[in-house]
Amino acid sequence: MAQIAIIGAGVAGLAAGRELTRAGHSVTIFEQSRVLGGRIATRHVAGFVVEHGAQLVKAPTGALQALIEETGDAHDLLGPVWVFDGEGQVSPGDPAFNLEPKWVWPGGNAILADHLARGLNIHLETTITALRRTGSSYDLLDDAGDVEGRFAAVLLTAPAPQATAILSASDLEPGARSELLAALAPVRYRRCISLALAYARRPELPWYALVNIDRHHPIAWLACEHTKPGHVPAGYALLIAQMGPAWSETRWDALAKEAYGVGVPLPQAAAEAHALTLALVGEDLGEPLWVDAHRWRSALCDAPCGAAAREGRAGVYLAGDMEHGQGRVHLALESGWAAARRMLAGLGRES
Ligand SMILES: Cc1cc2nc3c(=O)[nH]c(=O)nc-3n(C[C@H](O)[C@H](O)[C@H](O)COP(=O)(O)OP(=O)(O)OC[C@H]3O[C@@H](n4cnc5c(N)ncnc54)[C@H](O)[C@@H]3O)c2cc1C
Repeated sequence: MAQIAIIGAGVAGLAAGRELTRAGHSVTIFEQSRVLGGRIATRHVAGFVVEHGAQLVKAPTGALQALIEETGDAHDLLGPVWVFDGEGQVSPGDPAFNLEPKWVWPGGNAILADHLARGLNIHLETTITALRRTGSSYDLLDDAGDVEGRFAAVLLTAPAPQATAILSASDLEPGARSELLAALAPVRYRRCISLALAYARRPELPWYALVNIDRHHPIAWLACEHTKPGHVPAGYALLIAQMGPAWSETRWDALAKEAYGVGVPLPQAAAEAHALTLALVGEDLGEPLWVDAHRWRSALCDAPCGAAAREGRAGVYLAGDMEHGQGRVHLALESGWAAARRMLAGLGRES
Protein backbone atom coordinates (compact mmCIF):
# COMPACT_ATOMS: atom_id res chain seq x y z
CA MET A 1 0.00 0.00 0.00
CA ALA A 2 1.43 3.39 -1.01
CA GLN A 3 0.78 6.81 0.53
CA ILE A 4 -0.63 9.08 -2.20
CA ALA A 5 -1.43 12.80 -2.03
CA ILE A 6 -3.97 14.54 -4.25
CA ILE A 7 -4.14 18.33 -4.48
CA GLY A 8 -7.67 19.55 -5.24
CA ALA A 9 -11.10 18.11 -4.46
CA GLY A 10 -12.78 18.97 -7.74
CA VAL A 11 -14.21 16.03 -9.68
CA ALA A 12 -10.83 15.06 -11.20
CA GLY A 13 -9.15 14.78 -7.79
CA LEU A 14 -12.14 13.01 -6.23
CA ALA A 15 -12.51 10.54 -9.11
CA ALA A 16 -8.80 9.68 -8.94
CA GLY A 17 -8.92 9.45 -5.14
CA ARG A 18 -11.78 6.99 -5.28
CA GLU A 19 -10.03 4.70 -7.78
CA LEU A 20 -6.71 4.77 -5.91
CA THR A 21 -8.42 4.05 -2.58
CA ARG A 22 -10.33 1.19 -4.17
CA ALA A 23 -7.02 -0.22 -5.40
CA GLY A 24 -5.88 -0.42 -1.76
CA HIS A 25 -3.71 2.71 -1.42
CA SER A 26 -3.81 5.26 1.36
CA VAL A 27 -4.96 8.51 -0.26
CA THR A 28 -5.08 11.98 1.30
CA ILE A 29 -6.78 14.81 -0.61
CA PHE A 30 -5.91 18.44 0.17
CA GLU A 31 -8.41 21.13 -0.82
CA GLN A 32 -7.94 24.85 -0.32
CA SER A 33 -11.64 25.67 -0.17
CA ARG A 34 -14.19 25.05 2.61
CA VAL A 35 -16.25 22.91 0.23
CA LEU A 36 -15.82 20.05 -2.23
CA GLY A 37 -16.44 20.14 -5.95
CA GLY A 38 -14.20 22.94 -7.27
CA ARG A 39 -15.90 24.31 -10.37
CA ILE A 40 -19.02 22.34 -9.54
CA ALA A 41 -20.06 25.14 -7.23
CA THR A 42 -23.52 24.74 -5.72
CA ARG A 43 -24.44 27.58 -3.36
CA HIS A 44 -27.59 28.25 -1.34
CA VAL A 45 -28.93 31.81 -1.48
CA ALA A 46 -32.22 32.91 0.14
CA GLY A 47 -33.82 29.47 -0.28
CA PHE A 48 -32.63 29.10 -3.89
CA VAL A 49 -30.07 26.55 -5.14
CA VAL A 50 -27.53 28.47 -7.22
CA GLU A 51 -25.07 26.74 -9.57
CA HIS A 52 -22.26 29.23 -10.08
CA GLY A 53 -20.11 26.63 -11.85
CA ALA A 54 -21.10 23.64 -13.98
CA GLN A 55 -24.78 23.78 -14.88
CA LEU A 56 -25.24 20.26 -16.19
CA VAL A 57 -23.26 17.08 -16.70
CA LYS A 58 -23.03 14.96 -19.84
CA ALA A 59 -22.33 11.23 -19.70
CA PRO A 60 -21.33 10.02 -23.17
CA THR A 61 -19.74 6.72 -22.03
CA GLY A 62 -20.96 3.68 -20.10
CA ALA A 63 -18.60 4.40 -17.18
CA LEU A 64 -19.86 7.97 -16.84
CA GLN A 65 -23.47 6.83 -17.16
CA ALA A 66 -22.92 4.21 -14.42
CA LEU A 67 -21.48 6.89 -12.10
CA ILE A 68 -24.46 9.19 -12.69
CA GLU A 69 -26.86 6.32 -11.91
CA GLU A 70 -24.91 5.44 -8.74
CA THR A 71 -25.66 8.85 -7.25
CA GLY A 72 -29.30 7.74 -7.17
CA ASP A 73 -30.81 11.20 -7.57
CA ALA A 74 -29.84 12.46 -11.01
CA HIS A 75 -32.48 14.10 -13.19
CA ASP A 76 -32.38 14.47 -16.98
CA LEU A 77 -33.14 18.08 -17.78
CA LEU A 78 -35.41 17.86 -20.79
CA GLY A 79 -35.59 21.54 -21.74
CA PRO A 80 -33.46 22.25 -24.81
CA VAL A 81 -30.44 24.52 -25.17
CA TRP A 82 -30.98 27.14 -27.86
CA VAL A 83 -28.37 29.48 -29.36
CA PHE A 84 -27.98 33.25 -29.85
CA ASP A 85 -25.56 35.49 -31.71
CA GLY A 86 -23.78 38.75 -30.95
CA GLU A 87 -26.89 40.69 -32.03
CA GLY A 88 -29.04 38.79 -29.54
CA GLN A 89 -30.88 36.79 -32.25
CA VAL A 90 -32.19 33.58 -30.63
CA SER A 91 -32.75 30.34 -32.59
CA PRO A 92 -33.23 26.61 -31.85
CA GLY A 93 -30.02 24.78 -31.00
CA ASP A 94 -28.40 21.58 -32.22
CA PRO A 95 -31.07 18.79 -32.18
CA ALA A 96 -28.40 16.08 -31.66
CA PHE A 97 -26.99 17.89 -28.59
CA ASN A 98 -30.48 18.35 -27.22
CA LEU A 99 -31.29 14.66 -27.52
CA GLU A 100 -28.39 13.74 -25.19
CA PRO A 101 -29.32 13.64 -21.50
CA LYS A 102 -28.30 16.69 -19.45
CA TRP A 103 -27.85 15.51 -15.88
CA VAL A 104 -28.59 17.70 -12.85
CA TRP A 105 -29.37 16.97 -9.20
CA PRO A 106 -32.37 18.45 -7.36
CA GLY A 107 -30.18 19.27 -4.34
CA GLY A 108 -27.52 20.80 -6.62
CA ASN A 109 -24.74 19.39 -8.77
CA ALA A 110 -22.39 19.26 -5.77
CA ILE A 111 -24.19 16.00 -4.95
CA LEU A 112 -22.00 14.38 -7.60
CA ALA A 113 -18.86 15.60 -5.77
CA ASP A 114 -20.29 14.53 -2.39
CA HIS A 115 -20.97 11.09 -3.83
CA LEU A 116 -17.42 10.71 -5.17
CA ALA A 117 -16.00 11.92 -1.84
CA ARG A 118 -17.71 9.27 0.27
CA GLY A 119 -15.20 7.46 2.48
CA LEU A 120 -12.21 9.49 1.24
CA ASN A 121 -9.73 11.20 3.54
CA ILE A 122 -10.04 14.90 2.63
CA HIS A 123 -8.42 17.88 4.37
CA LEU A 124 -10.45 20.99 3.55
CA GLU A 125 -9.15 24.55 3.92
CA THR A 126 -5.60 23.36 3.25
CA THR A 127 -3.76 25.23 0.51
CA ILE A 128 -0.70 23.37 -0.73
CA THR A 129 2.14 25.69 -1.73
CA ALA A 130 5.00 23.33 -2.63
CA LEU A 131 6.29 19.75 -2.78
CA ARG A 132 9.59 18.86 -1.15
CA ARG A 133 11.59 15.81 -2.21
CA THR A 134 12.74 13.57 0.63
CA GLY A 135 14.58 10.59 -0.84
CA SER A 136 12.16 8.85 -3.18
CA SER A 137 9.03 10.42 -1.63
CA TYR A 138 7.48 13.86 -1.26
CA ASP A 139 6.41 16.08 1.62
CA LEU A 140 3.73 18.67 0.97
CA LEU A 141 3.95 22.18 2.42
CA ASP A 142 0.83 24.19 3.12
CA ASP A 143 0.29 27.92 3.51
CA ALA A 144 0.25 27.61 7.31
CA GLY A 145 3.82 26.33 7.10
CA ASP A 146 2.81 22.79 8.05
CA VAL A 147 4.30 19.77 6.37
CA GLU A 148 2.39 16.64 5.35
CA GLY A 149 4.29 13.56 4.26
CA ARG A 150 5.64 11.14 3.08
CA PHE A 151 3.94 10.44 -0.22
CA ALA A 152 5.18 8.01 -2.86
CA ALA A 153 3.19 9.83 -5.55
CA VAL A 154 1.42 13.18 -5.86
CA LEU A 155 -1.45 14.14 -8.19
CA LEU A 156 -2.05 17.83 -8.85
CA THR A 157 -5.55 18.67 -10.07
CA ALA A 158 -5.53 22.42 -9.39
CA PRO A 159 -6.12 24.50 -12.55
CA ALA A 160 -2.90 25.13 -14.51
CA PRO A 161 -2.00 28.56 -12.99
CA GLN A 162 -2.16 27.17 -9.43
CA ALA A 163 -0.44 23.91 -10.43
CA THR A 164 2.31 26.01 -12.06
CA ALA A 165 2.75 28.08 -8.88
CA ILE A 166 3.04 24.92 -6.76
CA LEU A 167 5.55 23.27 -9.11
CA SER A 168 7.61 26.47 -9.46
CA ALA A 169 8.02 26.58 -5.67
CA SER A 170 8.78 22.84 -5.43
CA ASP A 171 11.91 20.84 -5.05
CA LEU A 172 11.62 18.15 -7.73
CA GLU A 173 14.22 16.52 -9.91
CA PRO A 174 15.14 19.56 -12.08
CA GLY A 175 14.42 17.77 -15.37
CA ALA A 176 11.04 16.56 -14.14
CA ARG A 177 10.00 19.99 -12.89
CA SER A 178 10.90 21.80 -16.10
CA GLU A 179 9.12 19.20 -18.25
CA LEU A 180 5.94 19.46 -16.15
CA LEU A 181 6.05 23.27 -16.21
CA ALA A 182 6.57 23.30 -19.97
CA ALA A 183 3.59 20.94 -20.40
CA LEU A 184 1.36 23.32 -18.40
CA ALA A 185 2.49 26.46 -20.24
CA PRO A 186 0.05 26.19 -23.21
CA VAL A 187 -3.07 25.85 -21.03
CA ARG A 188 -5.33 28.90 -21.26
CA TYR A 189 -8.57 29.71 -19.43
CA ARG A 190 -11.38 32.14 -20.04
CA ARG A 191 -12.43 34.37 -17.14
CA CYS A 192 -16.09 34.40 -16.20
CA ILE A 193 -18.30 36.34 -13.84
CA SER A 194 -21.36 34.23 -13.06
CA LEU A 195 -24.45 36.18 -12.03
CA ALA A 196 -27.54 34.61 -10.49
CA LEU A 197 -30.56 36.88 -10.98
CA ALA A 198 -33.73 36.11 -8.98
CA TYR A 199 -37.12 37.44 -10.12
CA ALA A 200 -40.58 37.40 -8.57
CA ARG A 201 -42.15 35.83 -11.65
CA ARG A 202 -41.30 33.22 -14.27
CA PRO A 203 -41.02 33.80 -18.00
CA GLU A 204 -42.62 31.33 -20.45
CA LEU A 205 -39.79 30.17 -22.67
CA PRO A 206 -39.23 27.32 -25.15
CA TRP A 207 -35.62 26.81 -23.96
CA TYR A 208 -33.85 25.80 -20.75
CA ALA A 209 -30.70 27.70 -21.68
CA LEU A 210 -29.15 29.82 -24.40
CA VAL A 211 -25.53 29.64 -25.54
CA ASN A 212 -23.79 32.39 -27.50
CA ILE A 213 -22.34 30.73 -30.60
CA ASP A 214 -20.21 33.52 -32.08
CA ARG A 215 -18.71 34.73 -28.73
CA HIS A 216 -19.66 38.31 -29.69
CA HIS A 217 -22.34 38.83 -27.04
CA PRO A 218 -21.50 40.01 -23.49
CA ILE A 219 -23.40 36.97 -22.15
CA ALA A 220 -21.87 33.56 -22.91
CA TRP A 221 -24.59 31.38 -21.37
CA LEU A 222 -28.04 32.12 -19.92
CA ALA A 223 -29.97 29.41 -18.06
CA CYS A 224 -33.43 29.14 -16.50
CA GLU A 225 -32.51 27.44 -13.24
CA HIS A 226 -36.13 27.42 -12.08
CA THR A 227 -36.71 24.56 -14.56
CA LYS A 228 -34.43 22.35 -12.43
CA PRO A 229 -36.41 20.42 -9.83
CA GLY A 230 -35.91 21.58 -6.25
CA HIS A 231 -33.81 24.63 -7.10
CA VAL A 232 -36.20 27.55 -6.83
CA PRO A 233 -39.29 28.28 -4.67
CA ALA A 234 -42.60 28.01 -6.59
CA GLY A 235 -43.46 30.96 -8.78
CA TYR A 236 -40.01 32.60 -8.66
CA ALA A 237 -37.49 32.65 -11.49
CA LEU A 238 -33.73 32.22 -11.29
CA LEU A 239 -31.58 33.04 -14.30
CA ILE A 240 -27.85 32.35 -14.36
CA ALA A 241 -25.95 34.64 -16.71
CA GLN A 242 -22.38 33.54 -17.31
CA MET A 243 -20.69 36.58 -18.72
CA GLY A 244 -18.16 36.30 -21.55
CA PRO A 245 -14.41 36.86 -20.99
CA ALA A 246 -14.20 40.44 -22.32
CA TRP A 247 -17.16 41.63 -20.23
CA SER A 248 -15.88 39.74 -17.17
CA GLU A 249 -12.38 41.16 -17.53
CA THR A 250 -13.55 44.78 -17.67
CA ARG A 251 -16.08 44.46 -14.79
CA TRP A 252 -13.86 42.21 -12.60
CA ASP A 253 -13.31 44.73 -9.80
CA ALA A 254 -16.83 46.15 -10.00
CA LEU A 255 -18.49 42.90 -8.91
CA ALA A 256 -17.31 41.32 -5.69
CA LYS A 257 -18.37 37.81 -4.69
CA GLU A 258 -21.62 38.52 -2.84
CA ALA A 259 -25.36 39.21 -3.12
CA TYR A 260 -26.76 42.56 -4.22
CA GLY A 261 -30.19 44.07 -4.29
CA VAL A 262 -31.40 43.05 -0.82
CA GLY A 263 -32.10 46.66 0.19
CA VAL A 264 -28.91 47.71 -1.65
CA PRO A 265 -29.00 49.29 -5.13
CA LEU A 266 -27.53 47.11 -7.88
CA PRO A 267 -24.04 48.10 -9.00
CA GLN A 268 -23.91 49.40 -12.55
CA ALA A 269 -22.38 46.15 -13.87
CA ALA A 270 -25.16 44.00 -12.33
CA ALA A 271 -27.83 46.37 -13.67
CA GLU A 272 -26.23 46.03 -17.10
CA ALA A 273 -26.30 42.20 -16.88
CA HIS A 274 -29.96 42.36 -15.80
CA ALA A 275 -30.84 44.48 -18.88
CA LEU A 276 -28.90 42.13 -21.20
CA THR A 277 -30.67 39.14 -19.62
CA LEU A 278 -34.15 40.58 -20.11
CA ALA A 279 -33.35 41.46 -23.72
CA LEU A 280 -32.57 37.77 -24.41
CA VAL A 281 -35.58 36.56 -22.41
CA GLY A 282 -37.79 38.99 -24.38
CA GLU A 283 -40.07 39.64 -21.44
CA ASP A 284 -40.07 42.26 -18.66
CA LEU A 285 -39.69 40.39 -15.36
CA GLY A 286 -39.32 43.60 -13.33
CA GLU A 287 -36.32 44.39 -11.17
CA PRO A 288 -34.33 41.42 -9.80
CA LEU A 289 -35.07 40.54 -6.16
CA TRP A 290 -31.35 39.96 -5.71
CA VAL A 291 -28.25 39.27 -7.76
CA ASP A 292 -25.50 36.96 -6.53
CA ALA A 293 -22.07 37.17 -8.15
CA HIS A 294 -19.20 34.72 -8.38
CA ARG A 295 -15.90 35.41 -10.14
CA TRP A 296 -13.91 32.65 -11.86
CA ARG A 297 -10.39 33.61 -12.83
CA SER A 298 -9.85 30.17 -14.45
CA ALA A 299 -13.33 29.22 -15.67
CA LEU A 300 -13.13 27.22 -18.90
CA CYS A 301 -9.91 26.11 -20.52
CA ASP A 302 -9.34 26.53 -24.22
CA ALA A 303 -6.02 24.71 -24.80
CA PRO A 304 -4.77 21.36 -23.47
CA CYS A 305 -1.61 20.63 -21.50
CA GLY A 306 1.32 18.76 -23.03
CA ALA A 307 2.10 15.05 -22.79
CA ALA A 308 4.47 15.27 -19.77
CA ALA A 309 1.63 16.57 -17.60
CA ARG A 310 -0.57 13.65 -18.61
CA GLU A 311 2.16 11.04 -18.26
CA GLY A 312 3.65 12.34 -14.99
CA ARG A 313 7.31 12.75 -14.10
CA ALA A 314 9.26 11.46 -11.05
CA GLY A 315 6.09 10.40 -9.21
CA VAL A 316 4.26 13.72 -9.84
CA TYR A 317 1.15 13.58 -12.03
CA LEU A 318 -1.39 16.14 -13.27
CA ALA A 319 -5.09 15.76 -14.08
CA GLY A 320 -8.19 17.85 -14.65
CA ASP A 321 -10.09 19.38 -17.52
CA MET A 322 -6.82 20.90 -18.75
CA GLU A 323 -5.88 17.41 -20.00
CA HIS A 324 -8.52 17.80 -22.73
CA GLY A 325 -8.32 21.59 -23.04
CA GLN A 326 -12.06 21.87 -22.60
CA GLY A 327 -14.04 22.76 -19.48
CA ARG A 328 -16.42 19.84 -19.01
CA VAL A 329 -17.21 17.84 -15.89
CA HIS A 330 -17.21 14.51 -17.72
CA LEU A 331 -13.77 15.23 -19.25
CA ALA A 332 -12.38 16.14 -15.80
CA LEU A 333 -13.80 12.89 -14.41
CA GLU A 334 -12.24 10.88 -17.22
CA SER A 335 -8.92 12.65 -16.67
CA GLY A 336 -9.04 11.74 -12.94
CA TRP A 337 -9.72 8.10 -13.79
CA ALA A 338 -6.92 8.03 -16.39
CA ALA A 339 -4.47 9.61 -13.91
CA ALA A 340 -5.35 6.95 -11.34
CA ARG A 341 -4.59 4.21 -13.90
CA ARG A 342 -1.25 5.82 -14.77
CA MET A 343 -0.35 6.18 -11.09
CA LEU A 344 -1.23 2.55 -10.40
CA ALA A 345 0.97 1.48 -13.31
CA GLY A 346 3.81 3.72 -12.05
CA LEU A 347 3.57 2.40 -8.49
CA GLY A 348 3.43 -1.16 -9.87
CA ARG A 349 6.69 -0.58 -11.77
CA GLU A 350 8.43 0.72 -8.61
CA SER A 351 7.38 -2.13 -6.30
C1 LIG B 1 -18.98 29.08 -14.85
C2 LIG B 1 -18.70 27.67 -15.28
C3 LIG B 1 -19.68 26.94 -15.93
C4 LIG B 1 -19.44 25.61 -16.32
N1 LIG B 1 -20.45 24.89 -16.90
C5 LIG B 1 -20.24 23.59 -17.18
C6 LIG B 1 -21.33 22.77 -17.61
O1 LIG B 1 -22.49 23.21 -17.68
N2 LIG B 1 -21.08 21.46 -17.89
C7 LIG B 1 -19.82 20.93 -17.76
O2 LIG B 1 -19.65 19.74 -18.02
N3 LIG B 1 -18.78 21.69 -17.32
C8 LIG B 1 -18.98 22.99 -17.01
N4 LIG B 1 -17.94 23.74 -16.52
C9 LIG B 1 -16.59 23.16 -16.45
C10 LIG B 1 -16.44 22.21 -15.26
O3 LIG B 1 -16.98 22.79 -14.11
C11 LIG B 1 -14.97 21.91 -15.07
O4 LIG B 1 -14.40 21.48 -16.31
C12 LIG B 1 -14.70 20.81 -14.05
O5 LIG B 1 -15.51 20.97 -12.91
C13 LIG B 1 -13.23 20.86 -13.69
O6 LIG B 1 -12.93 19.91 -12.67
P1 LIG B 1 -11.43 19.74 -12.17
O7 LIG B 1 -11.46 18.75 -11.08
O8 LIG B 1 -10.55 19.53 -13.34
O9 LIG B 1 -11.00 21.19 -11.61
P2 LIG B 1 -11.62 22.03 -10.41
O10 LIG B 1 -13.05 21.76 -10.27
O11 LIG B 1 -11.18 23.44 -10.65
O12 LIG B 1 -10.89 21.44 -9.12
C14 LIG B 1 -9.60 21.86 -8.72
C15 LIG B 1 -9.61 22.01 -7.20
O13 LIG B 1 -8.28 22.32 -6.77
C16 LIG B 1 -8.38 23.20 -5.67
N5 LIG B 1 -7.09 23.86 -5.51
C17 LIG B 1 -6.51 24.77 -6.34
N6 LIG B 1 -5.30 25.14 -5.87
C18 LIG B 1 -5.11 24.43 -4.72
C19 LIG B 1 -4.04 24.38 -3.78
N7 LIG B 1 -2.93 25.12 -3.92
N8 LIG B 1 -4.16 23.57 -2.70
C20 LIG B 1 -5.29 22.80 -2.53
N9 LIG B 1 -6.35 22.82 -3.40
C21 LIG B 1 -6.23 23.63 -4.49
C22 LIG B 1 -9.51 24.13 -6.07
O14 LIG B 1 -10.05 24.81 -4.95
C23 LIG B 1 -10.50 23.13 -6.69
O15 LIG B 1 -11.42 22.63 -5.75
C24 LIG B 1 -18.17 25.04 -16.08
C25 LIG B 1 -17.19 25.77 -15.41
C26 LIG B 1 -17.45 27.08 -15.00
C27 LIG B 1 -16.40 27.84 -14.24
